[in-house]
Amino acid sequence: MSVHAYASQDVKGKLEPFEYKFDSLKDDEVEIDVEYCGICHSDLHMLKNEWQITKYPIVPGHEIVGRVSAIGKNVSHLTVGQYVGVGWQARSCLICDQCLSGNHNRCLKGEGVIVGRHGGFADKVRCQAVWAFPLPKNINVKTVGPLFCGGITVFNPIIQNKIKATDHVAVVGIGGLGHMAIKFLKSWGCEVTAFSTSPNKEKEARGYGAHHFLNSSNPEDLKQLSNRFDMVLVTSNVELDWDAYIGTLRPGGKLHIVGAAPQIKATLFPLISGERTIGGSPIGSPSTIIKMLDFCNRHSIEPVVEEFPMSRVNEAISHLESGKARYRIVLQNDFGQTY
Ligand code: NAP
Ligand code: ZN
Repeated sequence: MSVHAYASQDVKGKLEPFEYKFDSLKDDEVEIDVEYCGICHSDLHMLKNEWQITKYPIVPGHEIVGRVSAIGKNVSHLTVGQYVGVGWQARSCLICDQCLSGNHNRCLKGEGVIVGRHGGFADKVRCQAVWAFPLPKNINVKTVGPLFCGGITVFNPIIQNKIKATDHVAVVGIGGLGHMAIKFLKSWGCEVTAFSTSPNKEKEARGYGAHHFLNSSNPEDLKQLSNRFDMVLVTSNVELDWDAYIGTLRPGGKLHIVGAAPQIKATLFPLISGERTIGGSPIGSPSTIIKMLDFCNRHSIEPVVEEFPMSRVNEAISHLESGKARYRIVLQNDFGQTY
């Protein structure tokens, strides 16, 4: 049986219909009939080989929602027909120090869904069963996909940094990740500030829960916010005036970067004198993903999505690249109609 997918053959990133065959299903894997798949900016980085890890042809897509269609013989906690979500990670070794301490997302032998294997811009996908998460009852299957990469990536820093309801947090870049961060932080109880280069996002950012909105095009304006935030969560994928953002941290505050900017250059003194720190994180552990789903269900948090049929994937990608997506694009499988 062939998998129908969209793949790019080279760095130009144009997606074309592509078919491939699965090997036999591994004992610890599940196979999923894809219904929806979000488009994350990491798909664009990978399409263009910006991280030098892309193997062509590449089938992108790592915010997948669908029904389990087959289970490996060692999988006992999932059943055929059940709805699951899959994000960036497809496998972890389960026996290294990181996995055994619950940090499977840091596993050195971890495999990404679209790194050396084919992802969710397809009618089927496979992963290790531990990375396929059952959806809570009543959750919206059309909008839940982006939680599995973009969502967990901005939820995890809240947990890792022990953010409290009394904390002041800034979110830099109000795109796919950033808009979900605002929603999480608002429900967490924090005072939330959105930093955006797009003034036309102000109304929506405030609607998602931002108490303040600042046009960050002029780093000079950040000076008025010196010593303000417990965490500045950076989701934009470009180099910023890092010192200007560090200047907005309170003593003890953290600049937490999840957007894949090429590098960071910063002056050390504010870090030493105020015990401010800089760090980052990759997605989140399976246990944090489960906590996030529960939190979203309880607080009725869902990503804001624009839907495109999968057959219009190139148009959808151009829409994201042009900065017009509001705020996450989700592709709907329409292979039955196009093949
Ligand atoms: P996105 O939807 O394209 O949003 C990125 C946002 O960055 C834009 O909406 C924009 O927000 C801001 N931005 C873009 N160009 C900018 C510029 N020149 N100057 C300042 N800000 C700019 O992307 P995404 O899907 O949220 O992903 C964001 C980044 O996170 C990507 O690099 C992606 O690879 C990375 N990522 C990392 C992880 C992880 O595990 N660490 C997981 C998922 C994604 P404004 O218009 O508000 O300025
Ligand atoms: Zn992603």
